[in-house]
Amino acid sequence: MLFGKREDGPDSQQGASLLELREAWKVYDLGEVEVSALRGISLTIERGSYVSIMGPSGSGKSTMLNLLGCLDRPTRGDVLMNGTSIADLEDDELAEIRLRTMGFVFQSFHLLARRSALQNVMLPLVYAGRGRDMDKAVWALERVGLGDRIEHLPNQLSGGQAQRVAIARAIVNDPEIILADEPTGALDTKSGAQILETLEELNSQGITVILVTHEPHIGQRASRVLRFLDGEIVADARGEAVSSVATAVHGT
Ligand code: ADP
Ligand code: MG
Repeated sequence: MLFGKREDGPDSQQGASLLELREAWKVYDLGEVEVSALRGISLTIERGSYVSIMGPSGSGKSTMLNLLGCLDRPTRGDVLMNGTSIADLEDDELAEIRLRTMGFVFQSFHLLARRSALQNVMLPLVYAGRGRDMDKAVWALERVGLGDRIEHLPNQLSGGQAQRVAIARAIVNDPEIILADEPTGALDTKSGAQILETLEELNSQGITVILVTHEPHIGQRASRVLRFLDGEIVADARGEAVSSVATAVHGT
């Protein structure tokens, strides 16, 4: 099994607050104008949850994902991880949290073109000081069904396979959270469905999954959906209400 049931593992704290935004603003100062990409977002994400984030282009989805993933800091307000504010942490402390806790998946894969699948997946292990742990990297690639492609370069892989390498890279350090920003946006329907299934399987094993998507049929598979408009959350639905919010025509 991918993530064994540890005493202190994800399973034992299912439902507890993992990430929290408190009145979080992100304002970009472009000289002449200021762009308020996020306008005072307050939000709690529970451990083990599966959340989709929807809304039109430019509504602040990626900006919020970057705050939740500690890739960026809010202009005002706070971000808490396991109840602890990240506001006063140094950049290297934030990087450490990202390495140990977060796995990122992006629309355009972000693989190093001249490195094999195996080498791409090994990089976060090296950054985390775990060395070139080839067994662990192979384990992650097998986990996403690419055990027979480890020596391939990104341009020798299909889009769906490349995205699975990116997922292997995201899980190789045993993250608590996977943040995926339109991970199926560049893929055909079938490859996209496989990526989604992989993410959902990881979620079923206790990893929190936060997924930005444009596509209603994807968004509605989550157990919670947030809808953005102009830097604000205009809907936050769970359970049976998810599908109507995910497929709503307004604001798309
Ligand atoms: P989404 O992911 O929903 O398409 P973004 O979070 O990328 O939206 O962007 C939200 C708003 O912030 C947009 O108006 C965008 O133009 C602006 N924005 C995002 N990143 C920057 C940046 N680095 N500098 C200036 N404005 C930005
Ligand atoms: Mg975006």
